[in-house]
Amino acid sequence: DDTNIFAKILRGEIPCQKVDECDHTLSFNDISPQAPTHILVIPKGSYIDMADFAANGSAEEQAAFLAAIGRVADQAGLAEGGYRIISNIGKNGHQEVPHLHMHILGGEPIGPMRAR
Ligand code: 5GP
Repeated sequence: DDTNIFAKILRGEIPCQKVDECDHTLSFNDISPQAPTHILVIPKGSYIDMADFAANGSAEEQAAFLAAIGRVADQAGLAEGGYRIISNIGKNGHQEVPHLHMHILGGEPIGPMRAR
């Protein structure tokens, strides 16, 4: 699916607030932040979700994605206070955009894993 919003951001068809980029990843602020810091890290390859990326991403792409998550969190000043990373998958995971993305949430206590 190359019509989803993140594919359009990667092609430069719609803008984003970029915070980091490397050969294999792009990171930008979420348009509807759920915490004082809410950054999305995406691979440049068109992987649907983490399961697809784990099965089909190259070792270089996978390493770059992991490195980007750590780098972006550090650059955002989240390392000391801690943060949460989340990647939603499919219907039960409540994934809305079918291009792999890792949410990085921080800047305040993020609360329990699930609202009860
Ligand atoms: P999901 O529910 O798929 O895990 O998360 C999708 C995320 O993408 C949501 O947090 C949503 O706010 C964000 N989002 C949707 N459209 C845009 C957009 O056009 N720009 C940016 N920066 N984020 C978006």
